[in-house]
Amino acid sequence: METLYHSTRDAQSVMSSKQAILAGIAPDGGLYVSDQIGTVTLDVTQICAQDYHATARVVLQTLLGDYSAQEVSDCVTGAYGSQWDTPAITPLTPIGNDWLLELYHGPTCAFKDVALQMLPRLMSVARTTEGDGQNVMILTATSGDTGKAALEGFADVAGTGVTVFYPDGKVSDVQRLQMVTQRGANVAVCGIRGNFDDAQTEVKAIFADANLRARLASDGCVLSSANSINVGRLVPQVTYYFDAYAQLARTGAIKAGDQIDFCVPTGNFGDVLAGYYAKLLGLPVGQLIVASNANNVLTDFITTGTYDRRRTFHKTISPSMDILVSSNLERLVYYLSGGDCELVASYMADLASKGCYTVNADILSKLQTSFGCGFADDDATRETIRNTWAELGVLIDTHTAVGKAVVDKLPASGRQRVCLSTASPYKFCADVLAALGADVNGLDGFACMDKLEELTHTTAPSQLSGLRTASERHADVCDRAEMPAFVEAACKRVFA
Ligand SMILES: *Cc1c(COP(=O)(O)O)cnc(C)c1O
Repeated sequence: METLYHSTRDAQSVMSSKQAILAGIAPDGGLYVSDQIGTVTLDVTQICAQDYHATARVVLQTLLGDYSAQEVSDCVTGAYGSQWDTPAITPLTPIGNDWLLELYHGPTCAFKDVALQMLPRLMSVARTTEGDGQNVMILTATSGDTGKAALEGFADVAGTGVTVFYPDGKVSDVQRLQMVTQRGANVAVCGIRGNFDDAQTEVKAIFADANLRARLASDGCVLSSANSINVGRLVPQVTYYFDAYAQLARTGAIKAGDQIDFCVPTGNFGDVLAGYYAKLLGLPVGQLIVASNANNVLTDFITTGTYDRRRTFHKTISPSMDILVSSNLERLVYYLSGGDCELVASYMADLASKGCYTVNADILSKLQTSFGCGFADDDATRETIRNTWAELGVLIDTHTAVGKAVVDKLPASGRQRVCLSTASPYKFCADVLAALGADVNGLDGFACMDKLEELTHTTAPSQLSGLRTASERHADVCDRAEMPAFVEAACKRVFA
């Protein structure tokens, strides 16, 4: 059955899921949502009896109904293959009395791989059946992590290319190597003399440059982004909530039908929103706990009903959660409002003009029924890393530790609790080492990796340690003014 999507701010123009994935964001600035979510529920007993791939197929088919069964199956097989270091894809392991859902076993060792291994494949299929024959060049400015996940996801995917700009000298050694060693005939990587904001601002200017876009179009190329608000990034994340439940049932800790809680280290609200979608699809979820770092705008929102981004931005040791405007929250507000586009549009207009909005009492009450919240600053995060290692023998990264710190402060719910683990501790070696009390002064990325292995008798994932011997393929560094020409040249080369 076709799944119809429309903007959170306007229900009038509807489109298929393939079109929504190609478009990314709605022309009115809204996010694509479907009113069909929740009209069918999945059979939890059946899900408990099947593997990750089977569950991924059911979830995708339900939320992206206009993809054929064959298309879905091909995408799932391609996205969750041998590039993952475990056939379980997202294994569930014990952490004290709770559970850790390890989302970092993909090619870049962070949870964004779950979505970014899938999105390119969904786009590639949509392009052949819905597109106008144009090739798609994904254009990204990165402060470190997203760029690599996009490169890995789009590498050698037919009809697509990916160009990534990073601030030269301002990403970690390991992050730079992850990007400059990237393989694939359709990838382009370039350092910028400047900071992340320079790169980001110029990327936005390139998207807005009508002349450049026209020249690219005449060469058969459109620019697109792999932003986390794309439906094709959100939907794949629903799978692991169901699969976590299935894994938990197989341990005997729950039986099908029992409610469980999830705690989610949150930035842009994509990950935890996928948990809410799972709940709408019939997964027995007690609470979804939204864990924030010092940028605790969501803690305040869930507590008071007022979203207020007018506050100091904190740079923390969990950088992927350093966000003051959580874009995907707009989708949640849409669903909690009962699908009131006008109301959502008015809140978003308030956010844009005044920097804040307050939801009505009905929305607040529904919000507090489904969601718990809390935050942890850097000191609490470090303490949690140290204690979790010392007392439970489990090594966690800085983002996961924010979630664990929040869960530890909450009263027991009487339900099993699953903490989502969003990155390998080896991806944030220096901060994890420092939290364990080691002196990291003067150590480069690989020295930190060695020291963390030595100290904890754990092993760095080969995706990261293998970078030591990988050859560098992308030496380009340019000035901001040269970025448009770099993109044009990349399109010419990739789609020649
Ligand atoms: C992106 C990211 C997050 C935040 O996820 P959202 O979907 O933006 O809420 C948390 N941890 C890590 C390691 C990430 O890369």
